[in-house]
Amino acid sequence: MKIAKMAPILLCWMHSEKNNLLEHTQKTIEKICLSVGRTPDSVSILAVSKNKPIENILPLIEAGHRLFGENRVQEATQKWFFLRQSYPNVRLHLIGPLQRNKIKQALSLFDVIETIDRPHLVLSIAKEWLQLSHKTEKLLIQVNTGREPQKSGVHVEDLASLVDLCKTHCLPLTGLMCIPPLKESPEPHFQLLSELAHQHGLHDLSMGMSRDYPTAIAHGATWIRLGKALWP
Ligand SMILES: *Cc1c(COP(=O)(O)O)cnc(C)c1O
Repeated sequence: MKIAKMAPILLCWMHSEKNNLLEHTQKTIEKICLSVGRTPDSVSILAVSKNKPIENILPLIEAGHRLFGENRVQEATQKWFFLRQSYPNVRLHLIGPLQRNKIKQALSLFDVIETIDRPHLVLSIAKEWLQLSHKTEKLLIQVNTGREPQKSGVHVEDLASLVDLCKTHCLPLTGLMCIPPLKESPEPHFQLLSELAHQHGLHDLSMGMSRDYPTAIAHGATWIRLGKALWP
């Protein structure tokens, strides 16, 4: 068979492969939800498409998935500016550190910014918030639950004042996010984040990655961030 004739078959096979993975993950999530007494629609998959080229992202969009996470403002802008014109109902989350000089760009691209972690950032966002026709609807504070020096996120004892600062500036803070230390059991970290969110009356909990999302769901995650599970 000529290569040209094989190409569509290959493409077709690649698509169904990706769809199967998404479906399989969704079914796993449903089962976990039922086993811990949660409704499946209380958990959403944030497909983490960082480092993934557009041709790897498209099969997921074509399978109907609309929620994606990126960790770099620049990369996300390059990939999603045009993709979004074709798929306007895609929703994007920023899950990587936000530099102050990228705030304007981030506010005009992301629906949700999950990585608020210091007072300066809140103040700069508050200033832009009044001036810009921003896209961002929700903000989450990243908590460094493992107190790791190389990781961003606010320490637990500084959370309350950062929450207050967001409230003072009328910013739409709706939840918390964490990345537990790689070498520890994630469970106490998810438990802690869930308690902190409850204390502050925040609904959204972004926690759990490919390796630990079942545990995160058991502890109340509303967004699980999956990379490897969807693009192995
Ligand atoms: C890359 C990344 C993920 C996805 O991790 P996987 O192990 O591939 O599921 C989740 N959250 C953040 C913040 C990331 O940077």
